[in-house]
Amino acid sequence: MQVPFLDLKPQLASLEPEMTDGVLRVLRSTCYVGGPEVEALENEIAEYCGVGYGIGVSSGTDALLVSMMGLNLKPGEQVLTTPFSFFATMGGILRMGATPVFADIDPESFNIDPEAMKKILKADTGRKIKAVVVVHLYGQCADMTPIVNLAAQYGLPVIEDAAQAIGAEYPNFGGSGKNAKAGAMGLAGCFSFFPSKNLGGIGDSGMVVTADEEFAEKLRLLRNHGAQPKYYHKMVGGNFRIDPIQAVALRIKLPHLNDWHRGRTANAATYTRMFAETGLLEAGLVKTPKHVYQGEGNLHIYNQFVVRVKRRDELVEFLHANDIGCEIYYPVPLHRQECLGGLAVRADCPQADKAAKEVTALPIYAELTDEMQQHVVDTIAKFYS
Ligand SMILES: *Cc1c(COP(=O)(O)O)cnc(C)c1O
Repeated sequence: MQVPFLDLKPQLASLEPEMTDGVLRVLRSTCYVGGPEVEALENEIAEYCGVGYGIGVSSGTDALLVSMMGLNLKPGEQVLTTPFSFFATMGGILRMGATPVFADIDPESFNIDPEAMKKILKADTGRKIKAVVVVHLYGQCADMTPIVNLAAQYGLPVIEDAAQAIGAEYPNFGGSGKNAKAGAMGLAGCFSFFPSKNLGGIGDSGMVVTADEEFAEKLRLLRNHGAQPKYYHKMVGGNFRIDPIQAVALRIKLPHLNDWHRGRTANAATYTRMFAETGLLEAGLVKTPKHVYQGEGNLHIYNQFVVRVKRRDELVEFLHANDIGCEIYYPVPLHRQECLGGLAVRADCPQADKAAKEVTALPIYAELTDEMQQHVVDTIAKFYS
C-alpha cells in the first residue's frame, strides 16, 4: 500500500465543480490582481480570526517580510525568535538587515519557551531587541499569555508566524477565559496559503491579519510599493500583491476548514491510539506529539503530525522504501543555517538541536483512511522489530 505524505486530490474532487466555476469567473472578469474577490477574502479571514483587518499578500514569506517592514526594523537591530521553524521566519528579519536572537524551544510543544525568552530579554541591557516573532509550529499555538505579557513589559511588538496554524486556538488568552485565534494575539499574524497548509490555495499567497488600523493601513501601502495615490510613493515597499484566482479558491475552501481541522485531529487521535498498541511508546522508540492545551476548540490543528523517534534517518529511509511519505521539519535549526555566516547570533539552543535530529512528520491529511494509518504504524513497528 502507498501512503503519500499529502494527497490533495480527494479534497479537490469534493470541490471541483465550484473551483472550476470560480476560476473561470476570475478568468472572464479580466481582473487579475487585487479586486473584489481579494477584498472579500481579506474580510472573511479577518472575521474568521476575530480581528478587524486582513491584508492579502503574495505568500506567507511576504506576509512576514511586509510585517518586518511595517515595524521599520533597521540594520543592527535585533529580533527575538525561535530557532525551530521554516526559514521564512528568520528570512524576513535578515532581509531588513536585522539580526535574529534565538530563544530555545520547549521540548514538548516545539514552540519558543517563554522562560528562555525572559532570560534573553533580561540580559539585553543595551535594548537592542526591537521585536518578537513567534511561530505556532505544526498547528499548535505558542504559549501566548506569558509571551505577550513579557513583550509588553519590554515594550516590544509581537508578530505571529501563524503559517501552520490558521484557525488554531489558544485557551484563556490573557486570563480572559476565552480562546483566541492564532494570528489575533500579537500586533499582527502572518498566514501562508501554500498548498500544503491547512487552508491551501492553488499557488502561492498569504495574508497578514491585525486589529491595529494604523498598522493595517501601513501594510496595505507597503504591499504596493508604498504608493498613495498611484505613482506617489510615501515609503519604499514592494510588490507583495495577491491574485484573485487564489482568493476565489480560498473563499471556496474556507467554509470547510473547520471540518478539515476535525479530520486531522481525529487522525492524530487514531495514530496516538494505534501507536499505544504497538509498545513503541513504552520502549522509548517513538514519542507521539503532545496536545499541550486542554479544553474546547481547535487547540491543535495538526498541520503536521510530528513524532520523535530513535534512529530517525534510518527510519525515514525505511518508510520511503516502503512507499510511505514523511518529511523532516526541520533538519537544520535556524541558528545553524549556513547563510548566517559570521553574523553574531545567540545560539545556545540544545532543545532545537535535539529536535532537529529526532523529528519526522507522518501523513495526517483529513482524507487519510484508518487502513492507511494502520499501515504507517505497522511499518514503523516493523522497522524497530
Ligand atoms: C509555510 C511557512 C512559511 C512561508 O509561507 P510561504 O507561503 O511558503 O511563503 C513561513 N513560516 C512557516 C512556519 C511556514 O510553515
